[in-house]
Amino acid sequence: MSEKIKMTTPLVEMDGDEMTRIIWKMIKDILILPYVDLKTEYYDLGLEYRNETKDQVTIDSAEATKKYGVAVKCATITPNADRVKEYNLTEMWKSPNGTIRAALDGTVFRTPIIVKGITPFIPTWTKPITIARHAYGDVYKNTEMKVPADSKCELVCTDKDGNETRSLIHNFNGTDGVIQGLHNTDKSISSFARSCFNYALDLKQDIWFASKDTISKIYDHRFKDIFNEIFENEYKEKFKEAGIEYFYTLIDDAVARVIRSEGGYIWACKNYDGDVMSDMVATAYGSLAMMTSVLVSPEGVYEYEAAHGTVQRHYYKHLKGEETSTNSVATLFAWTGALRKRGELDKLPELCRFADCLEKAIITTIEEGVMTGDLALLSTLPNKKKVNTEDFLKEVNVRLQAIL
Ligand code: NAP
Ligand code: MG
Repeated sequence: MSEKIKMTTPLVEMDGDEMTRIIWKMIKDILILPYVDLKTEYYDLGLEYRNETKDQVTIDSAEATKKYGVAVKCATITPNADRVKEYNLTEMWKSPNGTIRAALDGTVFRTPIIVKGITPFIPTWTKPITIARHAYGDVYKNTEMKVPADSKCELVCTDKDGNETRSLIHNFNGTDGVIQGLHNTDKSISSFARSCFNYALDLKQDIWFASKDTISKIYDHRFKDIFNEIFENEYKEKFKEAGIEYFYTLIDDAVARVIRSEGGYIWACKNYDGDVMSDMVATAYGSLAMMTSVLVSPEGVYEYEAAHGTVQRHYYKHLKGEETSTNSVATLFAWTGALRKRGELDKLPELCRFADCLEKAIITTIEEGVMTGDLALLSTLPNKKKVNTEDFLKEVNVRLQAIL
């Protein structure tokens, strides 16, 4: 390799916290800067700087992502009471991921990275299943009440002219009970649908969506109808050209089909289904450290990151000068995903090829038996060699040089 690969538009780079911040710098130094004339607009989302800027830096990074279209994000601390003390925070700042997701009105897609030697608990899952979770409303923004016996409970809607529409929930004859009010909006469901269809076109994979519309004939049925309308009006032709399908089914049927499938599609889920199923699917594929995540806005803006957190326990070992063996694969795939997308948008085939080669080098390294401790515990390869955080990246670099 003589000349570094040129970029035209900057990538929005969101730095983060703890062990993943350490890995972030190593990845850039060892595997990116030697090969790419990297252009980024840098935002430090490390907790100290978020506190210093009263979290303005998070808002600015989200605005920059809207402007440039592609971001890569390091894992960040979501402060709790302990962190407020530890970092002497002036406020318990909100989750950066929540702030960025709200600003982009985006949907999160999580995909496992599959390697030989790590067999999913469902052995037929030879291809990744990507889960898309609708991250707005339903039971996560509910209102609920305990109800004393012999109460009559109703849903009441008051429209802008003051007209009331009432609908009986239940007469609690002779028993106490509970009730719950849920909502969602056509706007949010439509954004979710468009993000899903865009991402399916991007990955050239089928997309499944499921709800319980046979029981919930108005609420869940609205999701089904909105998906269907948007698909028919905006995506049907594009899907035909790409040779992919949109498939709607009942959630029970979807679960049964997913278990029997070989993977290789996107599964769009309502909020609660996505919460539960993403944990199930991630566990079944083996390791959270092998799960990538991308936030896609309905306008086609992309933010790439690892699905795991800042790996705090490893960071404290690192601070004590002890050796760590932290898995950088998901963070590496965040970088390759973002660089490839930048390359696609800016028509830079060399940049796309670099991202492909780097991913291949990562997979080859693990399949040749060189891996971090978390994977060494799972891998069934006969000759495994556990390496430390930095040596793993150096081993990837050896293989990258061989294929570039
Ligand atoms: P975590 O950082 O994902 O780590 C939980 C445990 O999973 C680790 O202690 C480690 O197990 C294992 N693990 C996760 N990623 C690994 C990797 N790359 N390599 C090796 N092992 C890995 O979750 P957490 O400890 O619950 O959260 C720590 C901080 O991350 C919190 O402040 C939280 O707010 C933040 N967080 C951020 C994001 C995000 O920015 N997207 C997401 C989740 C959490 P062992 O200790 O057994 O080795
Ligand atoms: Mg969950």
